[in-house]
Amino acid sequence: MLSYSKQFVNEEDISAVVKVLKSKILTKGKKIIEFENKISKFVNSKYAVAVSSASSALHLSCMALQLKKNEIFWTVPNTFVASATCGIHCGALVDFVDIDPLTKNISIEEFENKLKKTKKHKLPKVVIPVHFGGQPTDQEAIYDLSKKYKFRIIEDASHSLGAKRFGEKVGSCKWSDLTVFSFHPVKPITTAEGGVITTNNFDYYIKLKQLRDHGIYREKKSKKKGFWYYEQRSLGFNYRLNELQAALGISQLKKLNTFNNYRNNAAKFYFDKLKKTGLKLPLIKKNNKSSFHLFSISFDKKKIKNNYQKIYKKFITTGIYTNLHYLPVHLHPLYKKMGFKKGDYPIAEEHAKTSFSLPLYYGIKKIDQLKVIKCINKILEDL
Ligand SMILES: *Cc1c(COP(=O)(O)O)cnc(C)c1O
Repeated sequence: MLSYSKQFVNEEDISAVVKVLKSKILTKGKKIIEFENKISKFVNSKYAVAVSSASSALHLSCMALQLKKNEIFWTVPNTFVASATCGIHCGALVDFVDIDPLTKNISIEEFENKLKKTKKHKLPKVVIPVHFGGQPTDQEAIYDLSKKYKFRIIEDASHSLGAKRFGEKVGSCKWSDLTVFSFHPVKPITTAEGGVITTNNFDYYIKLKQLRDHGIYREKKSKKKGFWYYEQRSLGFNYRLNELQAALGISQLKKLNTFNNYRNNAAKFYFDKLKKTGLKLPLIKKNNKSSFHLFSISFDKKKIKNNYQKIYKKFITTGIYTNLHYLPVHLHPLYKKMGFKKGDYPIAEEHAKTSFSLPLYYGIKKIDQLKVIKCINKILEDL
C-alpha cells in the first residue's frame, strides 16, 4: 500500500536515539538545547522552544500572546483541528477566513474584506495562518494587515520546515510573532511526536519555556535558597520533548534538505505527468519554495459530483492510500455547536469535496508515482 506520507528513519537516527537511551539523562538534558539551537540556526530565528507536539506548541503560543477568555482569534477552515483548538483551550472564540481557491492558503482578499467589515471590538487579537501543503502564506501581506488592525500572528508551519518565501526561511518570524512546526511522522522531519516554536521575542521565549514546564521558575543562582528551590509562577503544563526525541530530531534535521529536494523532484514528476489531465494541481507562487509536505490535487466540481467515495475506493483497490486535507474544521460537530454551518466557507468546502492528497514522501519511487498517475487517468476516463 502506498501511503500519502511517511517517515524516513535510518541507522544513523536509530543509533542517535540508542546512545541517549544508554546515557544517564533521558529528559531535560543537553540534547534538547542542541536541537533548539540547530532549529533556530536553520530557520534564522533568535530563539526556539521544542515541545511535545505542534498542538502543544500552538497552545503555548496562544498563551504567550495572552489570548484570553472571550477574546477572538482567526484561522482557516482548511487545516487540522489543532490550529483552532489551541485558542479554544484559552477560552477564546474562534472564527475563520476562507481560503484561496488556487493556493488553498488563507485568501488575503477575503481576509482584508473580513477585517474591514468587522466591528472594532470584534476584531481578532490573534491570527493563525496555515502553510498548506508546505507552501508559505502571503506572510508579508498578513503582517502589513496586522499593523493596521493590531493583531498578533502565529504561523502554523506544521507542513513547511525548510520552505522559503522571498528567500526567507519559514520560521525566521520576519512577518510574524511566533512560528510553529510539527515533528509528527508524516511531517517534513520527525521526532515521533514533537513540535517547536520559533520567535525573535525574548519575553515570549522565556514565557514559552516556563509554560512547557508547569510554569515553574528556577533561579540559576539558587545557592541562597538551596538547590532544591523552585517556584511555580504561572499555570503551565508538562509539554516537554524528551532527550530521545531531541536526539532523533537533530539526526533528522541533517537530512531535511535532502528530504525536501527529493519531495520537490517527485512533485515535479507529478506536475509533468498530470499537467494535461485538466486536474487542479498545487499552485506554487513565484516567490515561494514549498517543502511539498502534500501534493493535493482537485477534480472538477461538476465532473466529480457525488463520486468522491467511488474515486477514493478506486485508489484504495489499486493499492494507493490517498487522504483528504482537510475536512473543513467548521463542519466538525464541536464547531457546529458554536454556530458554524455548511456554506460558511464555500471554497474550503468545495476543496474538501474534490481533493485528494497523493503519495509523496522521501524515497517514493518513480514506478510507484507512475502507478498513481495511471490510476488517475483511469479514474478520469470513468468519470
Ligand atoms: C500536524 C498538524 C498539526 C498538529 O501537529 P502535532 O504535532 O500532531 O500536534 C497542527 N497543524 C497542522 C496544520 C498540522 O498539519
